[in-house]
Amino acid sequence: MGLRTVFTLLAILVSALFFGSFFSETLSFLWGVSLLVLFILYQSWNQERLLKAIQGDDLIGRSRGIGRWRIIFELLEKKSKGWRQEILRSEIEYKRFIQAVQASPNGLIMLDEDDQIEWCNNICKEHFRLDPLRDARQPITFLLRHPDFIRYMQNSDFTSPLNLDFMGVNGNLMLLLQVYPYGENRKLLLSQDVTVLKRNESIRQDFVANVSHELRTPLTVLNGFLETLQEIPLNAAERKKYLNLMSLQSSRMLSLVEELLILTKLDHSPISPKTSVVKVKDLLQRLLDDGKSLSNSRHEIRCEIHSEKNILGAENEIFSAFSNLVTNAIRYTQENGFIEIAWRDEVSGGAIFSVTDSGIGITPEHIPRLTERFYRVDRSRSRESGGTGLGLAIVKHVAIRHGAKLEIQSTPAVGSVFSIQFDSERLTPDLDSLKNEASQD
Ligand code: ADP
Repeated sequence: MGLRTVFTLLAILVSALFFGSFFSETLSFLWGVSLLVLFILYQSWNQERLLKAIQGDDLIGRSRGIGRWRIIFELLEKKSKGWRQEILRSEIEYKRFIQAVQASPNGLIMLDEDDQIEWCNNICKEHFRLDPLRDARQPITFLLRHPDFIRYMQNSDFTSPLNLDFMGVNGNLMLLLQVYPYGENRKLLLSQDVTVLKRNESIRQDFVANVSHELRTPLTVLNGFLETLQEIPLNAAERKKYLNLMSLQSSRMLSLVEELLILTKLDHSPISPKTSVVKVKDLLQRLLDDGKSLSNSRHEIRCEIHSEKNILGAENEIFSAFSNLVTNAIRYTQENGFIEIAWRDEVSGGAIFSVTDSGIGITPEHIPRLTERFYRVDRSRSRESGGTGLGLAIVKHVAIRHGAKLEIQSTPAVGSVFSIQFDSERLTPDLDSLKNEASQD
């Protein structure tokens, strides 16, 4: 019993005695008992409130009582405010942590000591078709039934990761899985989608194989001629013939290496700046002259200019792309065929460069693949005419770097139209022709 309670009881006793000295003994007894009952009721009311407060009932806005009880309730309220803030802070931190894990592009699964799923992030839906709520407490090997994965878990050797082909929600995935043991027999299973990485790796391997193959063919031929020249005595005419053939092979290798260098440069440089002006009229004149000399009067070549606009971009790249299309048209069009080089305005405000030929044409199934590196419809025909299989890849790259679009339309045995569409932002009026117009006015 506290000192205050003793004092209160003594005060009740003294007041009852004091009361008794004025009134009858019965009245003084009743007075004392009433005060005692009131005191007990007040104590039990506050005890009840204390119990509720401890059980979590909110005290704010309620009477805090008097005396000691007031101090108790005020202290309790202060403490509970602190606790509530602490809980709120922890909840915010927990939410942030979960948001960070959910934002991760990698799958994360927490496993308990029996390899049952305790928690997993949302990306696991895409990787393994897992549902974080539905699949909680399920054994992981029960849900991921790939034999390689089951073996990996059973072996319990998690020093190296596991590569898996998996059927994810959006199609076939290549996943890299790694288990990290932690805590008491718990495990963290991480999954990384390496589909794009693996695909790029295989493209790179194909590319290296293609380049090696393309270089090996002329090198083998050159080697053969060299051996012949060394071992067999040849007359002047034969020697000239062999040297010509060797020069053809070395030119092929040179153009292959040059085109590879162009592609590598295009791959590693940013979007072409709009600072220089490419004078299209002059460029088309050069294309026409080069085309005529390559064709050697075997084709009818025409040039149509119906736009006064110039291109904002890199002249060497634009020339290389346009020239590739003209060269292809000449190479894939039979003698007496017709070729048109054109530059026209478009209603959208843009302009279009096109090369139309009456050549061999292309069947529709090949068209979507023509811009792939080393893709050719007819390998031997391309080689015979000095093709590298890189020309259209370069054209597409240059177009992209100038915000333009390459379009191919073709009909077998009728001919093809290769066009590059430029947006108005990449074009500028030809100042020379504007000046000429002004002086004529
Ligand atoms: P290549 O050096 O083999 O010509 P390209 O990338 O320039 O390589 O072209 C890819 C393929 O597209 C060619 O091998 C050819 O089969 C086809 N092709 C390109 N231009 C034409 C065209 N004007 N007419 C018909 N086929 C063409």
